[in-house]
Amino acid sequence: MKKMNFFALAAIALLLLGACENTKKVKEEKTMTKAIDLASMDKDLRPGDDFFRFVNGGWMKENPIPPEHSTYGAFIILYEQNQEDLKQLVKEVSAEKDANNGSVSQKIRDFYNSGMDTIRIEELGVNAIRKDIDEINALKSKTDVQAYIAKTHKAGASTLFYFFSSADQRNSSMEIANFYQGGLGLPDVDYYLNDDDRSVKLREAYSIHLAKMFQLMGDDKATAIKGAATILKMETSLAKVSKTRLERRDPIANYNKMSLAELKELSPDFDWDIYFTTLGLPDPGDMNVSQTDFIAGLSPLMKQYSLDDWKTYLLWSLVDGSATYLSNDFVEQNFDFFGKTLSGRQEMRARWKRVLDNTSGALGEAIGQLYVEKHFPPESKSRMITLVENLRKSFAQRIAKLDWMDEETKKKAIEKLDAITVKIGYPDKWKDYSKLNVVADSYLQNVRAANTFEFDRTLEKIGKPVDKSEWGMTPQTVNAYYNPTNNEIVFPAGILQPPFFNKDADDAVNYGAIGVVIGHEMTHGFDDQGRQYDKDGNLNDWWTEDDAKRFADKTALLASQYDNYTILDSLNVDGQLTMGENIADLGGLNISFDALLMSMNGNKPAPIEGYTYDQRFFMGYAQVWRQNIRDKELMRRLKEDVHSPGEARVNIPPFNMDIFINAFGITADDKLFIPVQKRAYIW
Ligand SMILES: [Zn+2]
Repeated sequence: MKKMNFFALAAIALLLLGACENTKKVKEEKTMTKAIDLASMDKDLRPGDDFFRFVNGGWMKENPIPPEHSTYGAFIILYEQNQEDLKQLVKEVSAEKDANNGSVSQKIRDFYNSGMDTIRIEELGVNAIRKDIDEINALKSKTDVQAYIAKTHKAGASTLFYFFSSADQRNSSMEIANFYQGGLGLPDVDYYLNDDDRSVKLREAYSIHLAKMFQLMGDDKATAIKGAATILKMETSLAKVSKTRLERRDPIANYNKMSLAELKELSPDFDWDIYFTTLGLPDPGDMNVSQTDFIAGLSPLMKQYSLDDWKTYLLWSLVDGSATYLSNDFVEQNFDFFGKTLSGRQEMRARWKRVLDNTSGALGEAIGQLYVEKHFPPESKSRMITLVENLRKSFAQRIAKLDWMDEETKKKAIEKLDAITVKIGYPDKWKDYSKLNVVADSYLQNVRAANTFEFDRTLEKIGKPVDKSEWGMTPQTVNAYYNPTNNEIVFPAGILQPPFFNKDADDAVNYGAIGVVIGHEMTHGFDDQGRQYDKDGNLNDWWTEDDAKRFADKTALLASQYDNYTILDSLNVDGQLTMGENIADLGGLNISFDALLMSMNGNKPAPIEGYTYDQRFFMGYAQVWRQNIRDKELMRRLKEDVHSPGEARVNIPPFNMDIFINAFGITADDKLFIPVQKRAYIW
C-alpha cells in the first residue's frame, strides 16, 4: 500500500533528496573527495552566461543518466552510496545467529528476505490480493463501501482521502485529527482537467494502464476497458473538487477546524459514523479538514456513483497501492506507466534496491540506529552545531540591518530565529518497533503490517500533546527539512557527507554547500508560508501590514525571475509554485556567505587552484545542484515539484547578490545579469 507522507501533507518545506558507502576502499576514496573538482567545470563558458554549466558542464558530459534514473546528480549519487551501506548492514544483521523471534534483527532480516523471495511472490501472483478482491466484490451497500474505506485506512492505505494526526496549526503543542484530499491515481489535479497536449496524452496512457491492471486482476479485456473508463470518470469528479498544488500552499486556507457534527453537516452523504466506528475511534474530537471543498464534494459523489462503480474504484485503489509488492507482471506494468511514461526512466532499479528502500522505510529508525553507529562520526555532529550557530548569528545580524522591516517586527523575527530547535544526525529517542510483527514468508503482509503500525501510532496521538522529539525523516535520509509547527530544522546523518559536508574541504566550499542547506532550512521559517507561523509554531500573524506588503513586493520580483527562466526551449519555471523554495535558496546563500565572512574574522584565505574564497563559496553551492535530468522528468517536476530544477537554483539566486556579481566580474553583457533595481534583496 502507498505510504502516507505526513510531512509532505503538512506542506512542510523539504530540501530534497540524497546517500554513503561501506567498504574500506570506499572510505579511503571518500576522504579524498575533492572540494572543487576543476575537471567538472566547463571553462569555455562565461560564469555570467550559464553559471550552472560553468561549474558543472564537465561533470554533466561525463555522467549520463543511468537507465534506472530519471535524474542524476549529487543527491542521487549520495543516495546510491547509502544503499550500499544499508545493504551491508542488512547483510550483517541477517547473519546474526541469535536473532530471536521479535527482535529488531529478525524484523529487518525477514522484511528484506520476504521482499527478495521472488519465487514465493511469483507463485502467489494475483492470489496475494485474492482475499481483498473477493471482499470488495462481496460488498452489498454503500455503507459497506465506506466501512471498507476505513478498513483500508487502518491497513495504512490512502483510499480516497488521507486521515492522520498532526500538530494543530493554531495550537501547535497538541495533536489533532486531520483530513487531507487524495484519491487520485495521477500525480496532479491538472492532469485530469487541462487540455494541453501533455495532459491529454497522459490521460490516454493512464487509461491504458488502468485497463491493463484490471486485466491482471482477472478481468476480460472489455470489462477492463469499461473499468478504466469508470475510474477516469470518478477521479475526474474528484479532481474537480480538489485544490491545486498552488492553492494547497496556503496554510490558512488549509486550516478548518470542526467537530464531528460539523463534519457531518459539511458532507452529509458520507457515513462518518461508520467510518470512525470502523477505525475504532468513535469520537475523534475536533478535527482539521484541510480541504473542505473536497470533503464536501465526496458527499454527492457517494450518491452519484453506483455501488458497482465504487467497487471498481476500491479494486483500482487496492491494486494501485499493492502493485510494487506483487508478482513481476504487476510490478512491470506499474513501472511502465509511473516510471517510463511519467518520468522517462528506461529500466527499473535492481530489486534489492527497491526492497531495501521499503525495508528502510518500514523499519527506518531500527536501521537508522545501526547506520549512525557505523557511519556518523560524533565530530560531524559537533561541527554541525558550530556551523548552525554561526548561521543563526549571521541571520540575526542580517535581520537587524534590513531596510524594509519595522523595528518591532524585526524583534519578533529574531525571537523566532532564536527559538528554532536544531536536530542533527539522529533522534535522541528511538522508535519502539516491538508492536510491529514481521513474518518470513509474505512481503505484502509485512508492508501492510508496517503501514498499520504507523497508522496505529498516528491514531494514538490524536488529542495528546505533540512529542517534539520525534523525527519526520530517518537518519539515513539524504535530505533536510524545516517543520513550521515545531519551529525546528532537521539534518539527518545521510546528508552530512560530501559534497554537502566535506571535512577535507576549505570553509568557503563547505559554507557554500552545507552552510547554504542550513540557511535554506532556517529561511523556510521566514518564507511566504513559514512567516505565517510564530515562534511557537502557531499560525499567527506577527507582521505589520506594511511589512507584509513590502515582503510581497520583494517576493513578486523573485517570482518573475523564475517565471521568465526558460528550460527545454519553451517551458518555464512556475515562480509561484516554487516561491517558498526560491526564497529559501536566496536566503540560505546570503546568510551562509555572511557566516563565512564572520568565521574568517577579517583574514582572507589565499586563492586555491586559482579561485578566491568568494568564488569557491558559489562553486561549492553550484556543485550540490549539479544534475542531468530527462525531459519527461523535467516536465513532470516543473508541474509537480515545489523545488525549482537544479539549473534554475544555480542560475538565478546568486545573480541577486552583489557579492557574486563582483566575485565573478559579471556585467550587463552577461546573459544572466540582473540589474540592481531588479534584484531581490529579501533576507
Ligand atoms: Zn526547502
